[in-house]
Amino acid sequence: MHPTDFTIAGAVAALEEGVISAEELTRAHVAAIEALNPKINALITVTAEHAIEAAKASDTRRARGEAGPLEGIPLAVKDLFCTEGVPTTAGSKILEGFVPPYESTVTTRLKRDGAVFVGKANLDEFAMGSSNLTSAYGGVLNPWSRRNDPQARLVPGGSSGGSAAAVAARMALGATGTDTGGSIRQPAAFCGIAGIKPTYGRCSRFGIVAFASSLDQAGPFARTVEDCAVLLRSMAGHDPKDSTSADKPVPDFVASCGQSVKGLRIGVPREYHIDGMPAEIEKLWRQGLEWLRDAGAEIVEISLPHAEYALPTYYIVAPAEASSNLARYDGVRFGKRVAESNSDLRDLYERTRAAGFGPEVRRRIMIGTYVLSAGYYDAYYLKAQKVRALIARDFREAWSKVDAIVTPATPSAAFAEGENSDDPLQMYLNDVFTVTANLAGLPGLSVPAGLDPQGLPLGLQVLGRPFDEETVFAVGAALERAADFKALPGMRAGA
Ligand code: GLN
Repeated sequence: MHPTDFTIAGAVAALEEGVISAEELTRAHVAAIEALNPKINALITVTAEHAIEAAKASDTRRARGEAGPLEGIPLAVKDLFCTEGVPTTAGSKILEGFVPPYESTVTTRLKRDGAVFVGKANLDEFAMGSSNLTSAYGGVLNPWSRRNDPQARLVPGGSSGGSAAAVAARMALGATGTDTGGSIRQPAAFCGIAGIKPTYGRCSRFGIVAFASSLDQAGPFARTVEDCAVLLRSMAGHDPKDSTSADKPVPDFVASCGQSVKGLRIGVPREYHIDGMPAEIEKLWRQGLEWLRDAGAEIVEISLPHAEYALPTYYIVAPAEASSNLARYDGVRFGKRVAESNSDLRDLYERTRAAGFGPEVRRRIMIGTYVLSAGYYDAYYLKAQKVRALIARDFREAWSKVDAIVTPATPSAAFAEGENSDDPLQMYLNDVFTVTANLAGLPGLSVPAGLDPQGLPLGLQVLGRPFDEETVFAVGAALERAADFKALPGMRAGA
């Protein structure tokens, strides 16, 4: 077996048994990165030397009997998490040259538990996008390809496209991501891996570059549901540095993956049968529900009557918060500064922001400032907040009838560069099944469950009650067992 083919749980066992050392495991991943990253562009910054040193230190800790739960596990970190001493770009030119003097809470916890970071993963600029094509550091190639058109350059999804592609191509055993409207679940589905957006507040947002603070949540990517549970166990937990992080105990998510789904009520929202959805996605959805029924769950049709307003609501709330969060990139405090010798302060702001932000980020700032402006606040932002409350209420009512909800993760398989790109609204449609969980603060897991006729992976999404990731993991693991998804991307280490 090639060392990059381990699951995280498998690698932990192999390291414990001394079958492999952390240094060997990390070197295998560094070699995979050297071979593949020039083609895939999944990592913006490769920290090979750091990683090998960290792996040696990890082997020393293990020899002393001090191994943490992720001791020696090579991971990629979305380049939206601040990492002390390692450049953090948020996929934007405006943060060029920014080297954080501190570490995000999530990455601090992963390191505390022994993880080894191999690099910073590419992403859409400030996590705004569904294709990774808005990154100032170039697009990421999806390691999967179409059977009948292998030359087509497929996107990995976004915004955490680099994280998902790195895990699928075996450049890391797992990765961190963030999900504001689907940025973990959609790229996981496009790349044939698992990813979970936990409940809002489950993971600390401290040290994560902010996009839309009431929607942003960190979460893991891995090649199995259980591995996501292993990573989330380390990432989650209360943090006094983030006032929205929840002071709740972190359950044993790994144990939840082995729980039976017998007797669970699984909701199927009527409104999610959207027009024009490809037949293979409807079919996979039906198949997923059958698998759960066979495992003893009860399938219940439910209604989420405000679901159709979720996308327009999201695309008002998210840009509004983004326009406010991004006001801090002014050329004065961090990153890039563009000024002429005769620039006054306003001219410095304007030049810096015009040079530093890409077109999608500028579009969001314009939409955001517009919907928050005095004349339009009531008509757009306030209205969107009211609809958001109704969307959350729909879910609260659903939880009296069901224990989890199963839907497709995305309305299509991975698309090619150039497809969906000329019309931003077409791109926004990608998030139709994912944004509701962010608006309502719910946990959502994407599980690879089948292939489309072109041989591309398709994902199913499991949504749960707030802070009930345990049921989400149980249902996700049951789907994973039934789907027995064994297909592999053409581009991967050890292939
Ligand atoms: N695709 C969505 C957007 O562009 C979601 C992004 C995200 O979750 N960060 O806003």
